[in-house]
Amino acid sequence: MLNKARSRIVSLVISLCFLLVSHSVLAAQISSADFQRVVDGAYKKFKDLKEGANANYIPILDTVPSDLFGVVIATRDGKIYSAGETRYEFSIQSVSKPFTASLIMAQQGPRAIREKIGVEPTGLPFNSRLALEIYDSRSVNPSVNAGAIAAVSLVKADSEKDRWNQVNGNIEAYAGRKLKVLEEVYDSEYETAWGNRAIANLLYNYERLYSDPEEALRVYTRQCSIGINTKDLAIMGATLANEGTNPITGKKVLNSEHVPELLAIMAATGFYDESGEWMYSAGLPSKTGVGGGIVAVVPGQFAIATFSPRLNPAGNSIRGMKAIQFIAGELGVGLYGPNKGE
Ligand code: GLU
Repeated sequence: MLNKARSRIVSLVISLCFLLVSHSVLAAQISSADFQRVVDGAYKKFKDLKEGANANYIPILDTVPSDLFGVVIATRDGKIYSAGETRYEFSIQSVSKPFTASLIMAQQGPRAIREKIGVEPTGLPFNSRLALEIYDSRSVNPSVNAGAIAAVSLVKADSEKDRWNQVNGNIEAYAGRKLKVLEEVYDSEYETAWGNRAIANLLYNYERLYSDPEEALRVYTRQCSIGINTKDLAIMGATLANEGTNPITGKKVLNSEHVPELLAIMAATGFYDESGEWMYSAGLPSKTGVGGGIVAVVPGQFAIATFSPRLNPAGNSIRGMKAIQFIAGELGVGLYGPNKGE
């Protein structure tokens, strides 16, 4: 199983390295006017789409105005192109997960992710307890709740406050500014976190959680409750597009040598049990969250971020997916060539 996982990751990494080179050649061909045209085009095309519904298993997410819609591109040299609502602060939710995985990679190397969490897609929903029982790695990958709680527990910390400061500081470094926790979201999620509490305890039982379970659950829930806007999300993605250096602040957040592994995790698992479908139709390493955010990375070039609270049954933002598919298709930047999105 481990060998199979290794060879999959190695081949993903090789293709990503190749694509990094080919895409930096392509980058020169996309003009500012093209970027603004596709952002405006995506916004206009999908703004009136009402399909899907806000997440409501975290009660407060149901109160976020469903019509909000924002689309932003941030390039690796820090240029921003936006349309629609780009300043509204929503909870980052699962979009935070690869960024905390990146913190573990930065502190302990990518091997820690593979050995202590896992890198395989689950083929199951993001909050699956079944995945934890049927896979030997238990946590399976950093994009599902089990793997993300495990990632938080892996942060080497001498107190809960220290653990939180490191997790939060890392996400702020990606966004390039101080961020606030949306305390109402935290309270609403923590008060109803019975499923995630079960996951944390099961992982601990299987010796795949590396701190006190309730502490990991609290820090994980706070991480998911961080407020960000669509522009922040685009800059976080652009930091990965820029080989781990934030294009606005110039701060190195992740060593460039680890960026391909992180993007490989996003490509294989970023859309939960729709990850295959997503790579088929958009072809970009991405991460979604039940708060309505999505970030997609065009390695070596730019990131596309969207915010729209109405989700499909898998927990992925419908207008966001469509906007990113549209932009990737218009610019022809799918990793494996221009996807048609069909
Ligand atoms: N905080 C959410 C949870 O644990 C994250 C899920 C998501 O965004 O997909 O359920």
